[in-house]
Amino acid sequence: MDKTITMVHGSGGSATGELIAEVFAREFDNEILNAMEDSAFVPATSGIAITTDSFVVTPVEFPGGDIGRLAVCGTVNDLLMRGAVPKYLTCGFILQEGVSFEVLQRVVHSMAETAKEAGVTIVAGDTKVVNGSGEFYINTTGVGIYPGDGEHGDREPVSAAGACPGDVILVSGTMGDHHAAILSQRMGIANDIKSDCAPLGEMVQAMLSQGIAVHALRDVTRGGLATVLKELAEASGTTFILNQSDIPVTDQVKDFCGLLGLDALYMGNEGKLAAVVAKEDAKRALEIMRHSAYGADAAVIGEVTGEDPGRLLLRTPIGGLRNLEVLMGEGLPRIC
Ligand code: MG
Repeated sequence: MDKTITMVHGSGGSATGELIAEVFAREFDNEILNAMEDSAFVPATSGIAITTDSFVVTPVEFPGGDIGRLAVCGTVNDLLMRGAVPKYLTCGFILQEGVSFEVLQRVVHSMAETAKEAGVTIVAGDTKVVNGSGEFYINTTGVGIYPGDGEHGDREPVSAAGACPGDVILVSGTMGDHHAAILSQRMGIANDIKSDCAPLGEMVQAMLSQGIAVHALRDVTRGGLATVLKELAEASGTTFILNQSDIPVTDQVKDFCGLLGLDALYMGNEGKLAAVVAKEDAKRALEIMRHSAYGADAAVIGEVTGEDPGRLLLRTPIGGLRNLEVLMGEGLPRIC
């Protein structure tokens, strides 16, 4: 029978030691963590960006990813959206008794691989075992730095409030993939939709280092594109106008949405971003995105104006303008 987590693994004694050594320390192997001190010591010379997030998705493994990859991507992407370079992660695992060792090992391995891909080091961790029925959750905190000297290094933090009239809005790829993948698996619907769960460091660092005037960035997660862009419009006091026919959605996700009466504009991704850039840089930003990993389907989807502060409008294919609000109620629980 598959070996599972029991309450004794949370005792702090030899079983806990064995769990940490066999599952976590082996995968997250690095000098800072291996010191096994009470807290990690890391050097810092500039301002830092910090973010934290908890991941509770069910199922923990899904087409295109798993809760471990999701935790790393979700956290590093939030650091990147402020223009920081992700450097360090901490992770807390809350394991219910009954968690399969084999599944946990796969997830931790995937987390280690994704951290490597994203260029972050897991410097601290914690494990707790609680009563329950074999589910588990991960909390990750991320720290990012601003390269160069001084408080912000050689770049100012990117802010949600930075959009200006005249700017251009881009997305880095197709909308709704993660949400549709999780929902398909949970409902037992057979299709090829995969989560887009991915770290976006390559495209963000390329845009910033090549001097693109990036005025706002947001990863398109819970609430979907409409929610995150409405938030950016409100934060900057500008109007965002989207062209519906330019917003990329795969045929599979379109069909899936049609079947269930869902709107891809309100469905979460875990490896896509929306960027607001100066008009003169839009073409170059698009090229950078398209040439980076995870950005092949990037598109220009709209523009920013100043007429109607805080509004998000959708230009339909027949030329009408539809007002979009943030997601109301709960689209789908536990997708991240
Ligand atoms: Mg975010």
